[in-house]
Amino acid sequence: MDEIFATKNRKRLVLKPGKERVVANRHPWIFGGAIGSESGPADAAIGDLFDTRGARLASGFYSPRSEIRLRALTFGEEELTAELISKRAGAAISRRRRLLGGPTNAVRVINAEGDDLSGLVVDLYNDVAVAEVANAGIERIKPVILDVIRRELKPRLIYLSNDLPARRLEQLPTEPEAIGEGAPATTILENGLRFEVDPASGQKTGFFLDQRDNRALAQPLASGRRVLNLFSYTGAFGVYAAAGGATFVENVDGSDVAIEQAKRNHDLNGSSSIARFVVADAFAHVRQLSASGDRFGLIVCDPPAFARRRVEVDRAARGYKDVNLYAMRLLEREGFLLTFSCSGHVSLDLFQKVIFAAALDAGRRVSFVRRLTAGSDHPVSIYCPEGEYLKGFLLEVREN
Ligand code: SAH
Repeated sequence: MDEIFATKNRKRLVLKPGKERVVANRHPWIFGGAIGSESGPADAAIGDLFDTRGARLASGFYSPRSEIRLRALTFGEEELTAELISKRAGAAISRRRRLLGGPTNAVRVINAEGDDLSGLVVDLYNDVAVAEVANAGIERIKPVILDVIRRELKPRLIYLSNDLPARRLEQLPTEPEAIGEGAPATTILENGLRFEVDPASGQKTGFFLDQRDNRALAQPLASGRRVLNLFSYTGAFGVYAAAGGATFVENVDGSDVAIEQAKRNHDLNGSSSIARFVVADAFAHVRQLSASGDRFGLIVCDPPAFARRRVEVDRAARGYKDVNLYAMRLLEREGFLLTFSCSGHVSLDLFQKVIFAAALDAGRRVSFVRRLTAGSDHPVSIYCPEGEYLKGFLLEVREN
């Protein structure tokens, strides 16, 4: 491993004059466009960035094919070594210990830039650790990461789904890898509730850990209410709502695999008898519910990222407005709406404007009760605000 970090095996990158701001702001993403020249081995995992006078500005994971040519881990003279990476990974895991051990055994233990490890995400699901490696440089130093995971978490299995779109661009293997024993599927405990998670077939790394605190917020709000869980995935918000005393929970998702899993999750928590499971397009389903006169006391609306690229923002805003407008109309005279956007390109400000437009058209009185974000195991680097993708509101919705 030390060989990979040896100076002769590193890429040498020179910053274009005039691009000094890029480094001064300590943003970890150094794009190809900011780099004037490159030299050194083509298969280098580590790159050093210099100014034209030869002073080192940053070091990090190098990728010849990504637009993000260098994912900076250190700036200035700080030495980038295998030990430093190992120490950062270990420290990130240590920071999660307070969340583990009690009624929760599933957390994000490494959150990329938020833990100063750009390009690496590791989620722990009970006895299974799921790692996402987004970049060629990290792929090469993977043994360092696997060692830390084994030492600190002692999982039964480490699973790498290797399915991030970035991997195809970087021409990295896309076959999943499983290191350890048994199948990747496992059962987790989150705030005392049980969920089956299958990293091999699920979305993301298997479960939306970022919503843990928001699900806990939904639980007491559901007491005595009829709950509609739109874009339910495996029913996690629905299970919390039932545990909080909901009288009825309707989970709606476009994926039949997700809805089957939602049924099993309600079964696991003894709440199937009050739950309904619907495979449907949420946009069509809210229209149907509206026509049939069904009303709810709490609605959760947690759609997928409608805008994956900047050019999709307008269309995404229309989608968010449409579904939120119907959700507001579906609420009883007094109800709660928990609504989210996980599109990185949709700012909190824009999302608030969309909710405002939906409220106007719905003809309801709407107040913000809370602004919501991902849980504390998803820290965001102040130097890389792109890491903050999840935003949401708890809204109180009343008759005019
Ligand atoms: N709230 C969930 C996560 C939702 S992820 C949780 O806490 O676990 C978004 C979900 O939306 C996915 O399961 C996806 O299958 C579903 N989805 C995407 N487009 C949809 C549509 N048009 N109608 C219904 N569901 C949709």
